[in-house]
Amino acid sequence: MNTSSSPYPDYKRACGWNEPSELSPKHSRLTGYQTCDAIIVGAGYTGIGIARQLAKLKPNSDIRVLEAETIGAGSPGRNSGFVLEHAFTGATPEAAGVLYHRYQSTQDVMREIGYTGAVTANSKIFKGAATDRGMRNLSALATLLEKSGQPFEWMSAERLRSITGSSYYRAGLNLPGNSLVNPYALISNLAQSLPPIIKLYEQSPAVHLSRTSSGWLATTPEGSIQAPKVFLANNAFAASLGFGNAYSVKIFTYAGITPKLPADLFAALAPEGQWGLLPAHRLGSTLRTTDDGRLLIRGFYGYEREGNDSTRRYLEQSLLNRFPELSSYGLEEWWGGTTSLTANGAPLWGQLKKGLFASIGCNGVGILKGTLLGQQLANLASGQPCLNVNELMGVPSWMPPEPIRHIGFNLVSAVERRLAGAER
Ligand SMILES: Cc1cc2nc3c(=O)[nH]c(=O)nc-3n(C[C@H](O)[C@H](O)[C@H](O)COP(=O)(O)OP(=O)(O)OC[C@H]3O[C@@H](n4cnc5c(N)ncnc54)[C@H](O)[C@@H]3O)c2cc1C
Repeated sequence: MNTSSSPYPDYKRACGWNEPSELSPKHSRLTGYQTCDAIIVGAGYTGIGIARQLAKLKPNSDIRVLEAETIGAGSPGRNSGFVLEHAFTGATPEAAGVLYHRYQSTQDVMREIGYTGAVTANSKIFKGAATDRGMRNLSALATLLEKSGQPFEWMSAERLRSITGSSYYRAGLNLPGNSLVNPYALISNLAQSLPPIIKLYEQSPAVHLSRTSSGWLATTPEGSIQAPKVFLANNAFAASLGFGNAYSVKIFTYAGITPKLPADLFAALAPEGQWGLLPAHRLGSTLRTTDDGRLLIRGFYGYEREGNDSTRRYLEQSLLNRFPELSSYGLEEWWGGTTSLTANGAPLWGQLKKGLFASIGCNGVGILKGTLLGQQLANLASGQPCLNVNELMGVPSWMPPEPIRHIGFNLVSAVERRLAGAER
């Protein structure tokens, strides 16, 4: 993907969660000139969260969602599928506790409207540490979880081995309440369950956004649409439309998936059933099993690049370090997906200009966070009470322009990669 200037995603590699033949649009494209009450740019978790909440607050309003791709083909359908209630960060432990409860109720709603055919039943989700540094990170996280009232329990190396079949990890933190999903199925269900008053357009990227005397005009390749309010929920691509560039950067992270494994081999990797492991370092590898008997690995970050053969080798090596018995299988498919990263992890959230609202920068855990921040943004824009997101999560710090930004990213990620060591 050439992402540096494109105002919308155009992935070159398919992802392993669906057959490309499944990806047919179910909604029309935007054509001609239209007007409405609110435009939402992006039908990911954030955009769908905004749309649902606006429709709930104003059931007679005319709400339109522009999605650049076919639902499920893009970023929201390419992730690892961890639906995380636990808040691993927050401005304070109290803030993390508040967020945890909000994520729980966000998942309750998602369970009702999105989980059919998407969720993996009875999965165990935990963090695992393989290094001294990882162990220190787990201890710090355990302190935060304890102070913020989030449930967890320590897991021994032996316990981790009995769940994953691998002796790679020294200790872990069990994190009850979280879920594993097929993200393609989840985002498809969420889009499908939107109330009928919301009109969703697929393959209709906003390529330009401009202010008019009565609000905002979004232009797509085949049409244009005007409304008093516009919501930017296009995450990593907001900057390409001219907003948030000083605070966020488009980052790729990558995932790979094995072929369907023989039943006896899969049973040895998941003796107690399905599991998902989160790394103890932010540049570490995430691993999980899937309902159809495969193993997925996510790791590595790239600056505005969809990845190349070295990305595949990196992922495969990390997988084989943990599961040498998979050497004759390797990765059947691998792919990249975008996330929007802010320097300090705080989202860019709120009203950026009169009538222009944004929630971007989920920093890689956006399934519940994006949904919650989207709902809250709809509340803010409708004059309803809402969470004080900036107080709970902070405000994003300024990022230097190019080329210093790119150089800085490369330096920080080289240092972090070294620090991550065997967590990678
Ligand atoms: C490999 C990988 C693994 C990940 N694993 C997890 C995980 O396990 N759990 C988790 O919570 N998060 C995970 N993430 C991160 C998660 O996918 C994101 O945080 C989440 O998708 C953000 O949601 P969003 O709706 O804010 O943005 P996005 O999901 O990026 O959605 C934005 C939408 O806007 C559309 N768009 C972009 N530009 C335009 C435009 N100009 N006009 C119209 N539409 C546009 C895009 O096509 C997209 O559909 C992972 C990400 C990747 C890449």
